[in-house]
Amino acid sequence: MSDRYAVIGNPIGHTKSPLIHGFFAQETGQDMSYGAIEGPVEPASGFSDSVKRFIAAGGRGMNVTAPFKLAAFAMSDERSERAQLSGAVNAMKFEGGRIIAENFDGVGLVRDIEVNLHQPMVGKRVLILGAGGAARGALLPFVAARPAELVVANRHVDKARALVEQVARSNTAGGSLTACGYADLAALGRFDLVINATSASLTGQLPPVPASVFSAGGSAYELAYGKGLTPFLRLARDAGVESIADGVGMLVEQAAEAFAWWRGVRPETRALIERLTVPLD
Ligand code: NDP
Repeated sequence: MSDRYAVIGNPIGHTKSPLIHGFFAQETGQDMSYGAIEGPVEPASGFSDSVKRFIAAGGRGMNVTAPFKLAAFAMSDERSERAQLSGAVNAMKFEGGRIIAENFDGVGLVRDIEVNLHQPMVGKRVLILGAGGAARGALLPFVAARPAELVVANRHVDKARALVEQVARSNTAGGSLTACGYADLAALGRFDLVINATSASLTGQLPPVPASVFSAGGSAYELAYGKGLTPFLRLARDAGVESIADGVGMLVEQAAEAFAWWRGVRPETRALIERLTVPLD
């Protein structure tokens, strides 16, 4: 029988993970199946019961999406440093009766920016909007990419401060790492790269970011994907930003990291990113 994998979330109908991993399995010749499971939100034990059932049925690994990333963290036996720092898990491996947990969202994002979009962060001024789960997962890989300055802005500024404080302990790369509110941004000048890691675009909203943060010739990255030109990307484009991108590359790259972790072979991602990309204008 093929090795079994799945993504679990609620709702799960929108997921592209079975398509992505099916494509990877075919490309690399791996004998595996990959399905989608809608985990119950109620009762509180519903998520962990679903995972345990999947393991009992021979499951080898799972991706985890909203709203279960924290519950997956809580039920894991071993967690990578990235998972520990973000407090969230997006991939699990089941081995010898243990649940091993990872978070590949941040490495997927950094790889998309640096490798696919050819925008190395070393020495740059980088601004991240948002301090939710995705920003938490991204921060450690961002610090490792050695920007000269990394600023995290959030509506609830205390969340951004707490996150920066936590990551600062692992910041051996030496760049500046600070937190602020949106009202402070106008005084901070232009950034080479601005990343929208808020969920504002999911409801067609714009985080209250001033156009003065963008550099003509710089880059803007929207974590949401498949939404075309979001209000954030439109603001960036109108401010003269040269490179704009959405999160489809991040989605495929984090999947490729999980696939390599499970199967020991890293699939090619370029063709799939092209296939899944929704034009931005
Ligand atoms: P969370 O719910 O954990 O965090 C939401 C964040 O958005 C918080 O910082 C919140 O601020 C902020 N926010 C929400 N609405 C607004 C608004 N109107 N103005 C300003 N800030 C706002 O979400 P995630 O971190 O999990 O997801 C963030 C985004 O990343 C989503 O668009 C999601 O789809 C995308 N994503 C993409 C992935 C990919 O592979 N491409 C993977 C994971 C996520 P506050 O704390 O002040 O409330």
